[in-house]
Amino acid sequence: LAKKMGGGQYQHFHTSLSDQALQRMEVEAGLKQALQKGELRVYFQPQVDMRNGRITGTEALVRWQHPEKGLLMPGAFIPIAEETRLIIDLGNEVMRQACQQQVEWYRAGFNPGRVSVNLAGAQIHEADLVESVQNVLHQTGCKPQWLELEVTEGFIMQDTARTVPTLKQLKEMGILLSIDDFGTGYSSLTYLKRLPVCRLKIDQSFVRNSAMDPNDLAIIEAIIALANKLDLELIAEGVETEEQKKLLLQAGCPHAQGYLYGKPMPALELMEMLRENQTGTA
Ligand code: C2E
Ligand code: MG
Ligand code: MG
Ligand code: MG
Repeated sequence: LAKKMGGGQYQHFHTSLSDQALQRMEVEAGLKQALQKGELRVYFQPQVDMRNGRITGTEALVRWQHPEKGLLMPGAFIPIAEETRLIIDLGNEVMRQACQQQVEWYRAGFNPGRVSVNLAGAQIHEADLVESVQNVLHQTGCKPQWLELEVTEGFIMQDTARTVPTLKQLKEMGILLSIDDFGTGYSSLTYLKRLPVCRLKIDQSFVRNSAMDPNDLAIIEAIIALANKLDLELIAEGVETEEQKKLLLQAGCPHAQGYLYGKPMPALELMEMLRENQTGTA
């Protein structure tokens, strides 16, 4: 095939492939250092009850404060970390920072609700996930009731014989489990009943188009009905407009996370938001 495409094209293909490999190695090496040097930051995005504007919790989202490239978004390094064991250290570091922050906020008299931390597939399949979580809680003094863990459908379904017992143990500890990006994965509905899951996060792709596309609104309505039937909590991701808010409220999903209420922000900014939010007038 390379011959058929001609020498020039083959050359190009070859070069771009090695560039990619090089870039990966660079990110991987840099990330290892970033973990040691403490360059990973946790941003917090508020989750709100749209009926009254109250902050009910936050999601912890990782950022990399790169010494030369500035603030990097997860899309630039999470996929690479996921291909290596680094994702486990990274995930533990994010959990640790998030839990530590929770303790600070509660001690300062705020009520940030639960903090929701994303789990990568490798973390769920790791034999000592439960132990890692226990360690973080122990080290930080964070209560299990202040922590929520998010997993995607695909990761749970990969090996239910192993993942389900692990998730059950976490639930027994008092940690809430939610399914992230719900509706975009394998969505075998029968497993939902069997999983120790408490909350579905409606994927933002449905929310984004809900105002224009009746099909997306129909999917949202179906997810809401499903959650109600199975007695699961619900939150909609990616709420950006008043119109989306209205549609979600009408459909029966009052909990949301999205730019309409706040982008992911440093802890200090979220604390300011909590201060305003919880003194009554917000
Ligand atoms: P996610 O867990 O589904 O997180 C929600 C993403 O949607 C975040 O992007 C958030 O900034 C973005 N978002 C929230 N509201 C809106 C909105 O109204 N409009 C738009 N356009 N976007 C919105 P972010 O922070 O770039 O993170 C992307 C993904 O990276 C996350 O998706 C998650 O899968 C992954 N990720 C982030 N932090 C971690 C982490 O600590 N560990 C792991 N394993 N994955 C992480
Ligand atoms: Mg998430
Ligand atoms: Mg999501
Ligand atoms: Mg995601």
